[in-house]
Amino acid sequence: MSRRRIDSRNGPTGLLGEIQTLINTEPMDSVYDITGELGRGKFAVVRRCVERSTGKVFAAKFLRKRRRGRDCRAEVVHEMGVLEAARNNPRVVNLHAAYETDHDIILLLEYAAGGEIFDHCDCDELLPEGQITRLIRQTLEGVHLLHQTSVVHLDLKPQNILLTSLAPLGDIKIVDFGLARKLGMVGELREILGTPEYVAPEILNYEPITTATDLWSVGVIAYMLVTGESPFAGDDKQETYLNVSQVNVDYSQEAFSRVSELAVDFIRKLLVKTPEDRPSAADCMTHPWLWQQHQYPSTEPVLPRTPRERSSGTKWAAPAEDPEDKENFTLDSPHTQAKKFRFEEETPAATNSGDGDF
Ligand code: ADP
Ligand code: MG
Repeated sequence: MSRRRIDSRNGPTGLLGEIQTLINTEPMDSVYDITGELGRGKFAVVRRCVERSTGKVFAAKFLRKRRRGRDCRAEVVHEMGVLEAARNNPRVVNLHAAYETDHDIILLLEYAAGGEIFDHCDCDELLPEGQITRLIRQTLEGVHLLHQTSVVHLDLKPQNILLTSLAPLGDIKIVDFGLARKLGMVGELREILGTPEYVAPEILNYEPITTATDLWSVGVIAYMLVTGESPFAGDDKQETYLNVSQVNVDYSQEAFSRVSELAVDFIRKLLVKTPEDRPSAADCMTHPWLWQQHQYPSTEPVLPRTPRERSSGTKWAAPAEDPEDKENFTLDSPHTQAKKFRFEEETPAATNSGDGDF
């Protein structure tokens, strides 16, 4: 996680100060056993822990209150506030309890046992497209519900989208609300934040941040899940920034061999420079890629793939479509109905499905 630089002209930018969760000051190890580390960032360590009385597993996020010589307790409390506000969002990790020590605030979070979807972007065997669309649908559902309450995540990336289980592949849970903001609280939000390869052009250009900023990130995540490559990663930060601001994306046949044309179309709609031209989360949910029935030929041999061939989504068993996803998703936002994207009008360029799946 990169640190934010707050625009002083804007004053405090959308930090939620009021929380309901009681912050315990008694030692947490009187209640929980810490059993290992799950992940760490610049200012946080996440540890697996077990509630002794119930045997229930949680993820304890230890957030440092003091960072770079500055008291950042308000920012930690803000992260709690966002989690509380998203309590009814099934795609956001649940906040169970909180503790405070001299150095840290510790958030006891619902444990996502399946790890990061990043592990499925950066491995020899990518997920079949039918699973990818299920995960993207769930991510969009979570993002849509956040956006309905004017909350933007601003740090969506494969490391912050977790899975409830690995085998069978579970449901997604969005984590890490350290950079999340409530829009509309204090005028325009313009900040430099996020991780270079995942940030939208408007962040680099110091232009206003809106819900569309998160949709860019969904495009990056979809790209990574289908190709196994990070679309904007350059050899250094400078090159990465240049790739982002020029929207320099590789849609070549090589990168997208055996990825469906609809997948490319979906990604192309999101990775556009002008935020207003990106579909909203609700608009995205109507894209045909996400509802495609996938058929996987059972006779096809599973061959080792070269890195560029990782996207061959037809080699695995057919995923079970999850009808609940469709039912659970409600498109009742007044914002989302205003601008419907006509996905069917544009023809995707330079793709080679070759699967005959669609
Ligand atoms: P940071 O703000 O430092 O990036 P995160 O909240 O993203 O912290 O957590 C860091 C990592 O810890 C995540 O990328 C993930 O691998 C792991 N992690 C975080 N929350 C959970 C959770 N609820 N269950 C399981 N693992 C988690
Ligand atoms: Mg993180």
